[in-house]
Amino acid sequence: MEFVSPYIVFSAPSGAGKTTIVRALERKYPQMVISISATTRPPRPTEQEGRDYYFLSREEFLQAVGQGKFLEYEQVHGQYYGTLIEKVEALRRKGKVVLFDIDVNGAQAVKKHYPEALLIFIIPPSREELVKRLKLRNSESEADIRKRLQRLRFEYDQAHYFDFVVVNDDLSKALTEVERIIFRKS
Ligand code: ADP
Ligand code: 5GP
Repeated sequence: MEFVSPYIVFSAPSGAGKTTIVRALERKYPQMVISISATTRPPRPTEQEGRDYYFLSREEFLQAVGQGKFLEYEQVHGQYYGTLIEKVEALRRKGKVVLFDIDVNGAQAVKKHYPEALLIFIIPPSREELVKRLKLRNSESEADIRKRLQRLRFEYDQAHYFDFVVVNDDLSKALTEVERIIFRKS
C-alpha cells in the first residue's frame, strides 16, 4: 500500500477526537509518526515532555520564533503552539510519513510549506457530543471549555480549505474512513 502524501494534517474543533485518531494511526502503522509541536500551554497531568509536546516558556518560544525555527506557529486559546521545521525534516529523512495534529490556521501554513500535504478535517457528530467529550476528557476548566466552543464557528468556516471532512461519530468507522483516504489503492 502506498501513502497519498508524506504529510498528513489533521485539524478539528478541540474535543472532536483528532488526537485519538492520529495516535491510533501511529500505533497501527510503524511508518507513521506524529509531529510533536512546541507549546507554552502547561502540561496536562498525563502529558510528558517530548512525547505530547515540547513545553516551552513564553520567552523560549518567542526566541525560537525569532530564530526562524518554526514552520508555522499560532496563538490558540491564549497560548502559543508551533511546528518546529527541524523536527519534521528529521522524520522525513528517516522516511516517515508525518502526521500533524494542529489547528486550522496551522494546517493551511503546512499546505503552503508542503503543497503535497493532505488536509483532513475531523468533526464531531454534533455540538452536544463535542461538549460531552470535552467534559469527559476532564482536562480543561469550564472557562477553557467555553474558549474552545467560542472558536467553533471560525473553525467550521475554514473547512473548505481541507481535502476531506470526516465525521468522528463511531471511532472505528472514522478510522476506516481516514485509512481509505490516506492509502492509495494499488
Ligand atoms: P482533540 O484532539 O480533537 O481535542 P481528543 O482525541 O482528545 O480530541 O478526544 C476528546 C475526547 O473524546 C477524549 O476523551 C476521547 O477519548 C474522546 N473520543 C474521541 N473519539 C471519540 C468517539 N468517536 N466517540 C466517543 N468519544 C471519543
Ligand atoms: P490542546 O491544547 O488541546 O493540545 O491543543 C489546542 C489546539 O492547538 C488544537 O486545535 C491543536 O490542534 C492546536 N495545535 C497543537 N499543536 C499545534 C501546532 O504546532 N501548530 C498549530 N497551529 N496548532 C497546534
